[in-house]
Amino acid sequence: PTPASPAFRTIDLRGHALGPAELRAAVPRLTAGDGTGVEQAVRGIIADVRARGFAALSELAAKFDGVEQRHPRVPAEAISAALDTLDPAVRAALEESIARARAFAAAQVPADVTVHPADGASVTQRWVPVRRVGLYVPGGLAVYPSSVVMNVVPAQAAGVGSIALASPPQKENGGLPHPTILAAAALLGIDEVYAIGGAQAIVSFAYGIPAGTEGEHDGRGALPAIEPADVVTGPGNIFVATAKRLVKGVVGIDAEAGPTEIAVLADAGARPELVAADLISQAEHDPRAGSVLVTDSPQLAERVREQLAVLAERTKHRDRVVEALSGEQSGVVLVDDLAAGIAVCDAYAAEHLEIMTADAPAVAARIRNAGAVFVGDYSPVSLGDYCAGSNHVLPTSGTAAFSSGLNVTTFLRAIQVVDYSEAALRGVSAHIRSLSDAEDLPAHGDAVDARFAGA
Ligand code: NAD
Repeated sequence: PTPASPAFRTIDLRGHALGPAELRAAVPRLTAGDGTGVEQAVRGIIADVRARGFAALSELAAKFDGVEQRHPRVPAEAISAALDTLDPAVRAALEESIARARAFAAAQVPADVTVHPADGASVTQRWVPVRRVGLYVPGGLAVYPSSVVMNVVPAQAAGVGSIALASPPQKENGGLPHPTILAAAALLGIDEVYAIGGAQAIVSFAYGIPAGTEGEHDGRGALPAIEPADVVTGPGNIFVATAKRLVKGVVGIDAEAGPTEIAVLADAGARPELVAADLISQAEHDPRAGSVLVTDSPQLAERVREQLAVLAERTKHRDRVVEALSGEQSGVVLVDDLAAGIAVCDAYAAEHLEIMTADAPAVAARIRNAGAVFVGDYSPVSLGDYCAGSNHVLPTSGTAAFSSGLNVTTFLRAIQVVDYSEAALRGVSAHIRSLSDAEDLPAHGDAVDARFAGA
């Protein structure tokens, strides 16, 4: 049973001078991982789907989504029908979200650069999109048409030619993904959509699913293959995030965008009702979501705690919210001052970090680790989730210390192109010889000299 009001634990770091590694260990974080068998379960799903293809997908759809499915491809008519019946207000909102995201994504496309280290010598960095991508749109506890926008827009801006989408089958929609997800795909011109959820969607894109032969015998025709993708992106629950981590290397992934997190860095002047509302807004995603307040004001912490109890009582997804706020991954971190608060935020490396302090822009500029930073009272995470123009597919569980939110470069590779003339190569050949000898790899120098032999 869910407790009546959120436990929201306190981690009191006042009077402790902790270094970065100690801070990382002290911040509230889900340690579930292996203890709960998530990784083992996901490894099992990956092996099963690779071994048995569509037969495994059908079984998993029955087990996790409660639907019967022969082949997961969504018919084109279902995608256009979903757009025809889309609520006009939702359509207008999606169009606004797409327009803002497109403008930001288009501006991110990096320019190719060329330098000339010598006369007749050039090196160029050329940005090239990957050929095919598989994009995941969550749809378990909630459905996320906004994630269609966040995945597709940067892929299109990067110039990716082949885009496939997967989202969990919904019992209520005849085993297809939620109609609003299909409508968002239609708005963006995406017609390759699969009703596959969780880890099985990630493995389907990573390895592809070979054409099924089952139908050849019962007269219903062979099952068309799912082609493997070069890059798989998208947010999801812990099963999705774990699957992405396990297939990384076979394909590129964006980041580990798992159960959502919000950290709020606030001082005594922050408005407790806004802090609490924002902490709850992310807790409603998932009982594993993390909501963290970092503050140097015990008074503010107390008032936020009171507000959490009040708001949690009347919020729609109360059980999920209370469970998330009561979990080990949530709570308030008390610090001595703002500088200590910034150090805690950098150690935590939040997916979303809100700054609710005096001179918020200056404080935001001092943050080193975060998926996205939201500055001041009028830039809540909800804005970024839907309509800011920024991307909401962001690194979680501390991975923001070394990875970035979804953006255009997620779908690009930088190819370096080397073009030297005979004279330019000759000009640097003695240095190549010296270095090849120094590394005891003389054939390297020989390959250069071969070009000038007899000259
Ligand atoms: P989901 O689509 O991620 O997951 C649903 C699927 O999970 C099901 O179809 C099923 O296949 C699989 N699953 C469920 N229980 C399982 C089990 N016991 N074993 C194996 N597989 C299982 O949808 P969701 O659950 O609603 O989660 C969405 C998540 O996405 C939330 O955690 C939310 O916080 C997160 N999210 C993150 C970001 C980000 O950028 N980090 C953005 C948006 C959403």
